Amino acid sequence: YGDRDGKIWMDGKLVEWRDANVHILTHALHYASSVFEGERCYDGKVFKSRAHSERLLKSGELMDMPIPYTVDEIEAAKREVLEANGLSNAYLRVLAFRGAGEDMGVAAARNPIRMAVTAWEWGSYYGDAKTKGAKLDIAKWKRPSPETIPVAAKAAGLYMICTMSKHAAEAKGCSDAMFLDYRGYVAEATGANIFFVKDGEVHTPLADAILNGLTRQTVIGMLKDRQVKVHERHIMPEELEGFEQCWLTGSAAEVTPVGQIGDYSFEVGAMTRDISEAYEALVRA
Ligand code: PMP
Repeated sequence: YGDRDGKIWMDGKLVEWRDANVHILTHALHYASSVFEGERCYDGKVFKSRAHSERLLKSGELMDMPIPYTVDEIEAAKREVLEANGLSNAYLRVLAFRGAGEDMGVAAARNPIRMAVTAWEWGSYYGDAKTKGAKLDIAKWKRPSPETIPVAAKAAGLYMICTMSKHAAEAKGCSDAMFLDYRGYVAEATGANIFFVKDGEVHTPLADAILNGLTRQTVIGMLKDRQVKVHERHIMPEELEGFEQCWLTGSAAEVTPVGQIGDYSFEVGAMTRDISEAYEALVRA
């Protein structure tokens, strides 16, 4: 990803893609002191752009990393990056991180909080699973308790077990891993929320130990508009057997059907297709 043409916004200005580098003593590299957003731009418009920027600032606040930019400044940076790279359909990565500075220990309140915005073309997150249905492994690691780490933050530290679990899943021929949480309830995938269908009603994990994704919230709204009953609740893994359909939601994943989780199978059914198509229409509306 490092060696290509293009522009990246870093700390207030556009730099050449290849020059968007940091020092090895960047605090974030050592202690995971970074928060980020993943967003998609459709036909020149970033879907839920302000909500993403607001969440970034909130993640910074939750992780004791005050980000020295306003929502308007972040919005402007995203527009600048898209324009400089001539992109109208793209994935955006907005990253805020604690840089190198006065301190190299765990405590580094005096080190600067830096920000970078990158955009590139990125197709379907789960490849052909988008139509066929993804196969998920059940992760051996658990989503942590909100008493362990602020789970509402989209923070790098929370992603280490995602990388490990996704690697393990891919080694078994799966597209992704589904986590249970610290209590054993069904939680989320490594970069997406999860929904189930049974008897025409929808069940999705309560957002008390997962990232309450913006796509999750959008999809819940779409289901309610369709008069579909949505149960946000604690779901036990044994219940997977009774569910008929399943899909994942995320800014990168969009709405991706799931065909299998461990030994449980799901059909790519009518509600899954309807919500997936309606989401595609909504983001371009
Ligand atoms: N859970 C996790 C762990 C994620 O990384 C993501 C992607 N940001 C999501 C859920 C979905 O969030 P959103 O719909 O806001 O992209």
